Amino acid sequence: MSNQDCIFCKIAAGDIPCFKIYETEHLLSFLDIGPVNKGHALVIPKEHYKNIWDLPAELGGEIITAAQMAGDAIVKATGADGLNIIMNNNEAAGQLVFHAHLHLIPRFRDDGFKHWAQSQYDNMDEARALAQKIEKMIKG
Ligand code: AMP
Ligand code: ZN
Repeated sequence: MSNQDCIFCKIAAGDIPCFKIYETEHLLSFLDIGPVNKGHALVIPKEHYKNIWDLPAELGGEIITAAQMAGDAIVKATGADGLNIIMNNNEAAGQLVFHAHLHLIPRFRDDGFKHWAQSQYDNMDEARALAQKIEKMIKG
């Protein structure tokens, strides 16, 4: 399944070029064209799935395996000190390309990027109630 208007479907089909770093039957990994740090890459399924909830579980497993392999190679090739693996799901979370993908971002001790800002719960009851609500949602 592919989506005619999707840039990552076009890359997966070879209609738009990319700087490929890894490929399997179902997945492709290539350099992000606007890297946070040089070596920043994406892992995408070749088929079009919108986001994390759309992805079949087996493919999710393959994507994690690819992220481990490609991420390790990126760290070694760039001399990075660490690696962020990030997935943006939906516009509010910063997703710009609506074809599921993981970002592999090499990080350096002195790269100046800060951890995102943290907030806090009003009290422990609020945290407990929310945890219980989420737990119930998972159980269905
Ligand atoms: P997201 O905000 O998670 O949807 O990220 C989309 C990412 O795709 C951005 O980091 C873009 O720089 C990257 N991107 C968009 N078009 C291309 C392209 N043709 N080749 C490589 N990376 C791309
Ligand atoms: Zn697509």
